[in-house]
Amino acid sequence: MAAELNARRDVVIIGAGPAGLAAALYLARYCRDILVLHDGKSRALRIPLTHNAPGFPDGIRGPELIARMTRHAVQYGAAVEEAEVIMIDAVADGFRLRLKDGSTRTSRAVILATGIELNQVDLPHAVHEEAIRAGVLRYCPVCDGYEHLGMRIGVVGCDSNGAAEALFLRQYSDDVTLMPLSHPELSPAQVQELAASGVSVEKGALLALEPGADRIGVRLEGRASLEFDVIYPALGCRPRSVLAEQLGIGLTGAGCVSAACVADSGVPGVFAAGDVVEGLDQISVAMGHGAIAATKAHNWLREQDQDTLQAKA
Ligand SMILES: Cc1cc2nc3c(=O)[nH]c(=O)nc-3n(C[C@H](O)[C@H](O)[C@H](O)COP(=O)(O)OP(=O)(O)OC[C@H]3O[C@@H](n4cnc5c(N)ncnc54)[C@H](O)[C@@H]3O)c2cc1C
Repeated sequence: MAAELNARRDVVIIGAGPAGLAAALYLARYCRDILVLHDGKSRALRIPLTHNAPGFPDGIRGPELIARMTRHAVQYGAAVEEAEVIMIDAVADGFRLRLKDGSTRTSRAVILATGIELNQVDLPHAVHEEAIRAGVLRYCPVCDGYEHLGMRIGVVGCDSNGAAEALFLRQYSDDVTLMPLSHPELSPAQVQELAASGVSVEKGALLALEPGADRIGVRLEGRASLEFDVIYPALGCRPRSVLAEQLGIGLTGAGCVSAACVADSGVPGVFAAGDVVEGLDQISVAMGHGAIAATKAHNWLREQDQDTLQAKA
């Protein structure tokens, strides 16, 4: 059994979200011996119902999408294991991955599909998750803005991130309010653009969010309580790029890997896919990255095998 666990795979994919599972499906259908490792934290698992995943006109729940994608990849031979990878080393003939339980896995190539973590508003975990399920707390204007046509929309985070989200959401409603977490950090040009676009800007620090079943109360310093149909926190994110760093892959200012890493990370045999890559954080993008990274990894392995054959000839 130990030998089986330690058998060197063609590719280990780290991440079982839309990116990693799409890569797994492609590689399994390229007849590759692959292992998907994940620590159970795909952001897709938190999606109550997505309305912009192509092919699902009635929407699909995130956990169902992940279950279907897992079944699809496993059906063609992908192995999927729940385990956190804490260290990755490039070794002579590939990569050695150390897991949290102290065991190791080895592979010839690696796909990093490790995603991001959101910076969240400060609510007790159960209250926070219930507010997401109820749909009064949303973190993705691109995904969900359409659901809030004509509604009262609040955006938390009075800086350039928040200003950009508020302006984006303004196309869906003429009732958009931008609020600071602690204090406003807007440039005069941003203040002017927000005013010209009809976005209201509050100045008092956020004291409390009070989510309900179909609306959410907001208490701001020095202000009577406000009420919204939905709040979008615009507080940035923390890319899960520590394994990329361990391999010596450079990160962008925001802590992501560059878009080039989908096809070529600069470290031979390492590819990246999904939210951990700079750009639009969406299911469809993550799936597309997964398909590209898988195909690049497969062709890279073929080239290696060709070199080996030629070296032997
Ligand atoms: C509430 C919510 C609603 C959303 N709604 C939509 C929507 O409607 N439409 C849309 O397109 N997008 C939506 N998104 C965004 C979407 O979920 C992401 O874009 C998508 O999940 C990205 O896929 P990914 O595979 O790159 O990352 P993820 O799905 O986040 O998966 C990352 C994977 O990496 C694994 N991992 C990371 N580090 C390690 C490690 N060290 N060891 C082992 N495993 C590791 C995790 O366990 C996980 O399996 C939403 C997100 C949230 C939170």
